[in-house]
Amino acid sequence: MIIRVEDIPVQGKQESFLEEDGPLNDRLGGETTDLGLRFSGPIRVRLDLSRTGRIILVKSRVEVRVQCTCARCLDPFALNLSSEFKMSLRPRPDPRLAPPEEVELSREDLETDFYEAEEIDLSPLIQDQVLLTLPPKVICREDCLGLCQRCGKNLNREACRCAVAEVDPRLAPLKNFRVH
Ligand SMILES: [Zn+2]
Ligand SMILES: [Zn+2]
Repeated sequence: MIIRVEDIPVQGKQESFLEEDGPLNDRLGGETTDLGLRFSGPIRVRLDLSRTGRIILVKSRVEVRVQCTCARCLDPFALNLSSEFKMSLRPRPDPRLAPPEEVELSREDLETDFYEAEEIDLSPLIQDQVLLTLPPKVICREDCLGLCQRCGKNLNREACRCAVAEVDPRLAPLKNFRVH
């Protein structure tokens, strides 16, 4: 999604569009891929753009569907992620010139990014936003029982008898000795 600075009226404007999920999946590096995460379907984006002089205020809401693997029971499931961000975009200061006077931002917690030309490609920023929303660990539901540590059964689907047959904890070291 490319916006032109000039096209943003002072009173602001809204944009809704879809971003392809391909680049997002490309950016999912080793560690995240190990967690079994994969975006499925485009990112739905809604932008609120406003401008004060050359400073652009972007409010964005993103929604995307992710295919995941539960960290506890290893079942695949789908997750809808959504998040809202606010950031300001300002022209990159020219290093050859004296530093410009600091401009007060209306909100202190705002992320600031710089742009160089009259046209700004928002796609990488939107991708960043989505990737930041990814949880470090996903579980299929709050009360997922996971896999039995001993027999590997998915305890959400069937109970196993391992817990019942649990050995006396004082003998546990011996049991481990046998297993390995
Ligand atoms: Zn689970
Ligand atoms: Zn078991």
